[in-house]
Amino acid sequence: MRITRRGLLAGTASLMIARRALASDVDVLVVGAGAAGLAAAKTLRAAGRTVTVVEARSRIGGRAHTDSSLGASFDAGAHYVHWSERNPWRKIADELGIRLNEDDDGGGLRVYRDGVVMSEAERRRRRSANGQIERLVQAAGAMDYSFADAVRGKPPEMADAAGGITLFALGEDPERVSLHDYDQLWSGDDYIPAGGYGALVARYGADVPVQLDTPVTHLYWGDGRVAADTPRGTVRAQAAIVTVPVGVLQAGGIRFTPELPAEIQEALEGLHMGALTKIALRVDRERFGKIDVTDLVDVQQGGPVTSFELWPDDEDLVLAYIGGDHARELCRAGESAATDFAVNRLASMLGARARDAVTGGRLAGWWSDPYAMGSYSIVKPGYVLAREGLRLPIGDRLWLAGEATAGGGAMTVGGATLEGERAANELMVRLGA
Ligand SMILES: Cc1cc2nc3c(=O)[nH]c(=O)nc-3n(C[C@H](O)[C@H](O)[C@H](O)COP(=O)(O)OP(=O)(O)OC[C@H]3O[C@@H](n4cnc5c(N)ncnc54)[C@H](O)[C@@H]3O)c2cc1C
Repeated sequence: MRITRRGLLAGTASLMIARRALASDVDVLVVGAGAAGLAAAKTLRAAGRTVTVVEARSRIGGRAHTDSSLGASFDAGAHYVHWSERNPWRKIADELGIRLNEDDDGGGLRVYRDGVVMSEAERRRRRSANGQIERLVQAAGAMDYSFADAVRGKPPEMADAAGGITLFALGEDPERVSLHDYDQLWSGDDYIPAGGYGALVARYGADVPVQLDTPVTHLYWGDGRVAADTPRGTVRAQAAIVTVPVGVLQAGGIRFTPELPAEIQEALEGLHMGALTKIALRVDRERFGKIDVTDLVDVQQGGPVTSFELWPDDEDLVLAYIGGDHARELCRAGESAATDFAVNRLASMLGARARDAVTGGRLAGWWSDPYAMGSYSIVKPGYVLAREGLRLPIGDRLWLAGEATAGGGAMTVGGATLEGERAANELMVRLGA
């Protein structure tokens, strides 16, 4: 079903359940301690509200997580502070004394097709196709269709270029990505927090009291208050901000009573989770030997494309990036199979020395993570108002917030943070003093 603006406005009216006189305690329940939940809690606490934050994992940060388990650090989720000109994380990093490093363009790129270096002529054709895709996106205007539709009937390098954008920027295959949603995403300069974005988010949230290992299983919101069942007991509050990923909502990770209103369910239908996946390989650099580039792209004829980043942040690591259905398969197959895949593809380009130099691997498998259910939200072609639909307050008791509701800031930590603050401020206005 497509979401129209008229349907959206009608939905707003039906969601406004008559406001009841509120008791004087103004506790707010925040579900999830990722960027959105932490920002919401901080905003509420700064305004003097009492807040309970419950988090399913045994750590805060959600999809912003710096993993050091290989003895070298990498961001399993968010890594770049995107559109930094207006991103709140620029100021937050500054206040915490954490340096933001410029995103240099790396030390050169080499593209392989089935283990053989691609010719310069083919590389040129691919580069030109990338430029044409950007023009197609801009030309689409208000029309909404998928990247796959946009390149149908065009030369094969156009399909490759569409895949390059959707798989590695969004983690999804081109037929499932709305051109319109992509076009509305904010852009700007990217920076990389020293020590990792996940570590920065954890520092930011360190002063927020969070009940860890406390997944909400059932949320009641129909009688003028909210109550949330968790394995550690029931939490009661006057209102709640729910920041769990849309994949968790769609999978029924939290049961709602009453059920979420039809308008919210319709908005949820217009979204799905992409599957951007990283596989980190710990590498003995001496055995690996010298190489004069830092980025490799492995194109398998008629098969998946994998992008490799060598020595991210100067760590002894190689990161493999995969998106779409191939990434989903690898997440389902598990860490050992995923690591083998990455090692084999690396060896297909660089030979046995690369294989021999790998000493360990980690799969950041967000697709199979029950508290993420994917990397970040993607709008299906034809559902351009889905993100807006999800921001509607539910019965003046419940707000959904997170990267999925962030409009131009969607799919980012910055967007999630702004949305946490937005929901907290809206909630305070609705509940009054
Ligand atoms: C591989 C990858 C790369 C990325 N790269 C970037 C990047 O470079 N830059 C960028 O800005 N963004 C990037 N992102 C996106 C970014 O990580 C997210 O947009 C952002 O972290 C989302 O924040 P959030 O608060 O909306 O959701 P989350 O961080 O997912 O927070 C939601 C929280 O809810 C918790 N939860 C789930 N279910 C329950 C439950 N039932 N009860 C209680 N708690 C629950 C979760 O554990 C989680 O902590 C990337 C993401 C991935 C996966």
